[in-house]
Parts: sequence; C-alpha cells; structure tokens
Amino acid sequence: RSAELLARQDRRESNARTYPRRLPIAVAEASGSFLRDVDGNVFIDFLTGAGVLSLGHNHPELVRTVTAQLARLTHGLDFPTPAKDAFTEAQLSMLPAPLRDRMKLHFCGPTGGDAVDAALKLCKTATGRGGVVAFQGAFHGSGHAAMAVSGLVRQKAPVADGVPGVHFFPYSYCARCPLDLAPRTCDTNCAAYLEHSLRDGNGGVGRPAAVIMEMVQGEGGAVPARPEFVRRVRALTRELDIPLIVDEVQTGGGRTGTWFAFERYDIEPDVIVASKALSGIGVPVAVILYDRRLDVWEPGAHIGTFRGNQLAFAAGAEAVRIIRRDDVLGNVRRRGEQVAGLLAPLAEKNPWVREARGAGLMWGVELADPRDGSPATGAARRVQASALRRGLVIEVGGRDDCVIRILPPLNVTADVVDTACSILIGAIEECCP
Ligand code: PMP
Repeated sequence: RSAELLARQDRRESNARTYPRRLPIAVAEASGSFLRDVDGNVFIDFLTGAGVLSLGHNHPELVRTVTAQLARLTHGLDFPTPAKDAFTEAQLSMLPAPLRDRMKLHFCGPTGGDAVDAALKLCKTATGRGGVVAFQGAFHGSGHAAMAVSGLVRQKAPVADGVPGVHFFPYSYCARCPLDLAPRTCDTNCAAYLEHSLRDGNGGVGRPAAVIMEMVQGEGGAVPARPEFVRRVRALTRELDIPLIVDEVQTGGGRTGTWFAFERYDIEPDVIVASKALSGIGVPVAVILYDRRLDVWEPGAHIGTFRGNQLAFAAGAEAVRIIRRDDVLGNVRRRGEQVAGLLAPLAEKNPWVREARGAGLMWGVELADPRDGSPATGAARRVQASALRRGLVIEVGGRDDCVIRILPPLNVTADVVDTACSILIGAIEECCP
C-alpha cells in the first residue's frame, strides 16, 4: 500500500518532494517515538518531523489540550487571547533571567523561514543598514530572504540575486576546516577572519544590518559551533553595534539540553528566531524574540494572516509545563550523553566515519571515503536505506549530503536510544565495511 500511495504522489505532487524519495514509506499513524506505515511496519522515528515533535508523536496531554482549544477558538489574528497570553508567558519564562525582562515577542507565521525574514527586516529597520553577514553551510529557510542568507547552495541558485548585500564567512566546522587549518588545533581563526573583514574599512564588508548564525548548524550537518568562535562573534558584533540574530529554529525548544542553544555558550543574542518545536506537537508557530531597544516597527510594519494559531499557543504553553514537570531538558542531556557514548567512538573504529558529533539530541555521523577523504554521499544514502529496512527513520544532510542525522524526540527513553543506535551502527557496518 505504501508503493501505491507513493506512485499516486508521484503523479500528482511536485517533483521537489524530498523525504519520500529516500524514505519510501506512506505513514498511517504514529505514537511517541514510533510511527507505523500503511502496511503495518513499525519504525523508530528519529526524524520526528524534522525536529518538530519534541514530545514525540501525539503526546496525550498535548492532544487533549489542542482538542479542547479547537472547540474554543482556533484563529485569532493578533488579538490578545488567553491562549496567546499563556504561550507568551511560557516562552518568556524559558529565557535566561537577564533576557526575560528585556525581550519582546513578535508572532510571525507560520514557518521558521517566515520568522527569519522578520528578524532580518527588523534589524534592517532598526539599523537603517542593508547588508547581512551569514555563514557557510547555514540553513535559514526557503523563501527569498531566508534562502539568501543560507549557505547551502543547491536550492539557492534561482533566487541568489534576490537579496543584495549578503556576505558569507566560514563557520567553525573543524572536521572540514574552511581555512584548511589542522582540525582542532585552532578555534578562533574563522572568527579572526570575520573580525578582520568587519573592521577593515579598506575593502571589508562594511557595517551590516545583522549577523545571523545557528549555534549548531542543523541542515549543514549537525555542526556545533565552537564556544570561542561564538563568543568572539558576540563580542565583535556588540562592539560594532551589529545586532546578532541567533537562528534557533532547529535548536530551540530544548533540542540541545538547554531551552535555547545559545545558553550553552553563555552569550546573549539581540534577536532569537524560534519555531519548529515550540508547540511540541507539530502545530505550526514561529516567533522572534528580540531586545526591547529593537522594538522599532510602526503598527502594521510587519503583518501576516497566520500569526494567531490558538492551537499552537495552547499546545506550546502546555508543552513548556510538561517539559518542566518531567525534566525533559535533563532527559535530553542524559540521553545525549548516552548517544555520545554510543556514536562518538565510531570515528576511531570505522575509517569511513570522519566525525560523530552533536549537542544534546541533535547528532550527526559524517562519512568520508577513506581512500581520498571525499564526502561519502552514496554511503550515507545506503546507511539511511539500510536503517529504514531495519526499522529506523533517520535523516541525511550536511553540505554534501554525507552526514547521517538523528533528531529523536526529547522525551525518548534509554531503551529506544539503545535500540536505535545499535540499528544505526549495524547499518553503518553493513554499508561502510
Ligand atoms: N532555520 C533553521 C536553523 C532550520 O533548521 C530551518 C528548517 N530546517 C529553518 C530555519 C526553516 O524553517 P521552515 O522550514 O519552517 O521555514
């Protein structure tokens, strides 16, 4: 039956389809960390809707909350509502103390890319400047502006000229050091290069409206930024009065073991972009949180129809309550250590594994051909297919599609992590002998 639905999709849907090409299943239903295809096969789901389903599929308390809200009010534009108020309160309460009182929310909608666009526009409005500094390997969304600041180039060519003034700099990706310095012998040269370019009045990039960065590049291949790199970028942008936008669309909502990943770096951004996991159950919602001094938009300066999804607001407030009550962030840290213990040693054991790395429950295993070090894209696809046959759904991503990525639910159990990692390791052994 999966084959039949895939064939029907093939005839009727856009050729740009992605997931079903590599994971050829039709999904019937799901629960917690598991999904079932229309033929009755059960899989562990370590893709979780691209990092959206932070509390797993159909969390019963979130289902109850959304169902109750559905009967009360669904769409509220930007009117104040009790559900929105609870959501706002919950989001602000998850910020580190000094930011809690300094930040305001703008509701964008409904996707992460929409919120990235809003963040860029807000910084341009506030500074009166045009350019933006972004990083190689970054992904920020599919619309023109969000794509323009994305460093993953494949999808970008047709809109590359859409937004002028975007400058790309190396990210601290030591496994494939963009400055060709020996990996792990340096963690600040990429920051030094950025610093030089921003300070250089003689052919540098001038003073941009914003610097936008991910703390852990997700689509770029689960690459955590090195702490010194992030701190230097923050110090520099602060000194030069350039707003720092931290894109937490994928990392936000607890994915790396703190509510936002920037907390792990001990920095304070000027703008935070958040979306995917905020409702916990996949009801779309996207926001920017920003420092009050950036609250410069006139009424109506940035609008949008779907800024008032009450189902997402109700779910999001409830998700925060559950995450606190069940110490889900503690679980992310403990399960993250478990994943690290299982996957990190692969780099020593298997010559195809360039690096296994991650933060919290956002992990990647990068494969490179041991003969010449080139990205092992084909092998990564074979691992993904083998894992699927063995009952595990995972993602492949990264700059050259050679990083196997896992994004488990944040409340995943130790047993499921063990089973999934042993499936993954088995698939790697099979495909990378
Ligand atoms: N920013 C980051 C860091 C992302 O990972 C993504 C999605 N993968 C986006 C932005 C775009 O989000 P959306 O697809 O909801 O527009």
